[in-house]
Amino acid sequence: MTAELLNGREIAKDYRAGLQSEVEKLKSQGIVPNLTVVIVGNDGASLSYVRSKNKAAEKIGMESSIVHLDEDTSEEDVLAEVERLNNDDKVNGILVQVPLPSQVDENKVLETIAPHKDVDGFSPINIGRLYTGQRTFVPCTPLGIMELLKHTGSLEGKTVAVVGRSHIVGQPVAKLLTNENATVTLMHSRTKDMVSSLKNYDIVVSAVGKPGLIKGSDLKEGAIVIDVGNTVVDEKLVGDVDFDSAKEVASYITPVPGGVGPLTITMVLNNTLLAAKWHNEK
Ligand code: NAP
Repeated sequence: MTAELLNGREIAKDYRAGLQSEVEKLKSQGIVPNLTVVIVGNDGASLSYVRSKNKAAEKIGMESSIVHLDEDTSEEDVLAEVERLNNDDKVNGILVQVPLPSQVDENKVLETIAPHKDVDGFSPINIGRLYTGQRTFVPCTPLGIMELLKHTGSLEGKTVAVVGRSHIVGQPVAKLLTNENATVTLMHSRTKDMVSSLKNYDIVVSAVGKPGLIKGSDLKEGAIVIDVGNTVVDEKLVGDVDFDSAKEVASYITPVPGGVGPLTITMVLNNTLLAAKWHNEK
């Protein structure tokens, strides 16, 4: 079998076109969705992520700004900046780029972002809402993975191995898959015989960051493979899955780059649009 490619760039492009027309509708009512991204310091990769989110927002007609703070900004000043954005009526979505410098406690920042502006969905209140089935901002990478999986058919009754249990990818995507009536096993570094057990699963979502962790011979024939891993090797971005061998076994597979990544940024825009709508609903 040669797998069908889940082309994240194409899927993201179509999705963003839909968002753009919704932004236009809001603008005709005098509402301009605004995404503000806070970055502390000058890490090259972080700066480039922030700029790409900023550009993507502007491309679909949103307003977007970057608040760039010095590397040595105190925790108190970062929290004060977040509070200022919480109180700025023009700002709908706030993202704080991580990692933060060591003097700034990430959890304190997440607790300070107003839940109705937390478009990453990482604040404790929004995580709680996700797990109790309330309306919330769903974290962007898991939401993007679900959008990719929509292109593969129904998830009902499917068995899924989610490899990686982080709060930003593995755990929320396991919850979203369970909501769709898939049966999920959440795996991690202490899972026994993890790789050899993968043959039992209809879908494998890998969010680890270890190139070559999963090969075609580890997969069930016809499996759906979502590779979230992003590791730079010899200046190239690679996933967790050995693409060439996996594509011969899988029915659908995401490439790296060009799979999950474009959907993640798209879902930041999706959540910012929701924030603007929810802020203005009567
Ligand atoms: P993380 O917080 O470092 O979590 C990695 C997870 O992998 C942990 O749960 C860890 O287990 C597990 N793990 C490590 N080695 C393993 C092994 N040999 N077998 C099974 N599980 C193992 O990472 P993250 O933030 O979730 O990110 C994961 C990857 O996705 C990274 O490469 C990251 O760059 C990428 N990513 C991509 C996007 C995108 O948009 N494309 C977005 C977010 C993240 P323990 O819990 O036991 O330590």
